[in-house]
Amino acid sequence: TVDLSKPDFHGKEALERRKNEIRVANVGLEIDAHDDARTAPTKERGRLTITTATGSSGEDRTRSVASYRRRVQRMKGVQEPKEKLAREVTLPETITVQELANRMSERAIDVVRLLMKQGVMKKSTDLIDADTAQLLAEELGHTVRRVAESDVEEGLFDEADPVESLQPRPPVITIMGHVDHGKTSLLDAIRHTSVQRGEAGGITQHIGAYQVTSPLGGKLTFIDTPGHAAFTAMRARGAKATDIVVLVVAADDGVMPQTAEAINHARAAGVPIIVAINKIDKEDANPGKVRGELLQYEIQVESLGGETLEVEVSAKTGENLDKLLEIIQLQSEILELKANPDRTAEGTVIEAKLDRGRGPVATVLVQRGTLRQGDIIVAGSEWGRVRALVDDKGGNVAEAGPSTPVEILGFNGAPEAGDRLAVVENEARAREIAEYRTRQKREKAAARATVRVSGLEEMMSQIKVAGRKELPLVIKGDVQGSVEAIVQALEKIGNDEVGVRVLLSGVGGVTESDVILASASNAAVLGFNVRALKEARDAAERTGTEIRYYNIIYDLVDDIKSTMSGMLSPERREEFLGNAQILEIFSVTKVGKIAGCLVTEGVVQKGAGVRLIRDNVVIHEGKLATLKRFKDDVPEVRAGTECGMSFENYQDMRAGDVIECYRVTEVKRSL
Ligand code: GDP
Ligand code: MG
Repeated sequence: TVDLSKPDFHGKEALERRKNEIRVANVGLEIDAHDDARTAPTKERGRLTITTATGSSGEDRTRSVASYRRRVQRMKGVQEPKEKLAREVTLPETITVQELANRMSERAIDVVRLLMKQGVMKKSTDLIDADTAQLLAEELGHTVRRVAESDVEEGLFDEADPVESLQPRPPVITIMGHVDHGKTSLLDAIRHTSVQRGEAGGITQHIGAYQVTSPLGGKLTFIDTPGHAAFTAMRARGAKATDIVVLVVAADDGVMPQTAEAINHARAAGVPIIVAINKIDKEDANPGKVRGELLQYEIQVESLGGETLEVEVSAKTGENLDKLLEIIQLQSEILELKANPDRTAEGTVIEAKLDRGRGPVATVLVQRGTLRQGDIIVAGSEWGRVRALVDDKGGNVAEAGPSTPVEILGFNGAPEAGDRLAVVENEARAREIAEYRTRQKREKAAARATVRVSGLEEMMSQIKVAGRKELPLVIKGDVQGSVEAIVQALEKIGNDEVGVRVLLSGVGGVTESDVILASASNAAVLGFNVRALKEARDAAERTGTEIRYYNIIYDLVDDIKSTMSGMLSPERREEFLGNAQILEIFSVTKVGKIAGCLVTEGVVQKGAGVRLIRDNVVIHEGKLATLKRFKDDVPEVRAGTECGMSFENYQDMRAGDVIECYRVTEVKRSL
């Protein structure tokens, strides 16, 4: 209805303004504006020709626009910003009032006021749901685009880098193998030799990962939390942090169960294996045997004509450690590992803890891009701004590129090992993602807790689960890695009858809310290398909640195992005592019927369990009430002897019946 192509007296600016008004109108919210827009141009055009030169019409028109604005305002009850634009607002499932205002180019205070008008009191930092946000946005003349919750994560990871941006990066190595085969010793030895080489400036700090230089000059990054738990936990979260697995096999022990497990893990992850045959300094070392045993797992080492690189080492004497590093570098060159350093950083959390002085501290392996101080980061359900980066030598650094392990200070809470880290453009995005993930976590936990019944089959299985005795626990530990290992170990020790239920596990000291959660479910709180805060101790005393402390995982697991064994109902074992034949039934006043018997086999004891058997059918099962020899009560009667017996609450015995006597012993079971 409006010919916008015709230039008018007020020129471009006025035209733009009117376009906006019409846009508002087109949203369908402002019928009035629509009318206004339709009539306004004609009015103006009419006036144009008459008073072009005087300029008085300008005032006139200003007034009319202003009055139009006032009318709109009156209707909406909010102050309209000067340059009102109808925007398309992207709405996630929840959004803070401030962020919603930003996206609409409105003032937060106006949105707060509008909410207040609807009887909802919110601060600008409060979260509102998408429905409320949509109402507000539409009220203010914007259109909305609702996005699914998971869209929040869209584009966070896995955007491919152009090939020309890729540059070589150091390999990331995890050492795996059977317990006591020397993983820790080897990691320490490698770090130590590099320290001796003068590479590290002084004391090396333990941050969960470190970087050394191979004798060939290349850098190698070792993940310093050996073991399968860390490796699998990371893989379970979709993080692939490791490029090469060094499989440690002790030359004096050979391939053991966890060696095989490590091989399987590495295979499943598609990561090449380098075999380090350790402890060759030992007298009974037999590296040949190790090579042979590995063949059973389809690992054919080079010296046997295969493809798998191998080296004989001693973590104790340091023999061949340089050779191991060389081999690792050669293997990594074959892999042609590359990453784009010139982009926002992505990485994986290797370890995270709450540090008394420094707050949440996360060791992160940067995998792509470069992480810098001041970056806004998200990992799992935590976010923050990088306050400081600390390298594996304990020094502060300004940035960290691909394959570099760094400690990050600045997280608002400790993320979990295996969480993937991303740098995002602003705090709002970081919060949105973190909140979405927190919610998801909570929903998952809630979903696990609720018992849904659908279909008989599921009901049956739930009855079975319901019949299972569960030991509820709250577990707090110093680092995520141990907490995870503890939870995994505990979940393994249950059976059909008993099991643990971990209500909550996390990093940090035992807090009051942990204790309250535990007391609500009659759970115990386990602290691994952490202690309870004062308020928590008070709460524990108040609620009678038990807090147990441990510093060795095995102790903890053993302790819980024995507790759970106590929850197992004891096994009933029946022991046959003897048989007696009823010869005659006597009726005795006040006592009732007494069977005169001959013990034919074994022994009959007072208080023992008895079965009355007639024609090979058990017709009664109960307890022996009296056992008499002549007139005397006796504790037991042996085979070949006659006696009188009566049953508890049973009278219908007959001559010819057999009485079987047995004893029940309860045997404590253990897991
Ligand atoms: P992990 O359980 O795989 O981490 O094994 P550790 O590194 O804790 O080592 C287990 C034991 O083996 C320790 O007592 C070490 O001192 C010993 N050990 C490790 N490497 C060597 C080695 O090369 N030679 C000898 N003789 N002993 C070693
Ligand atoms: Mg170890």
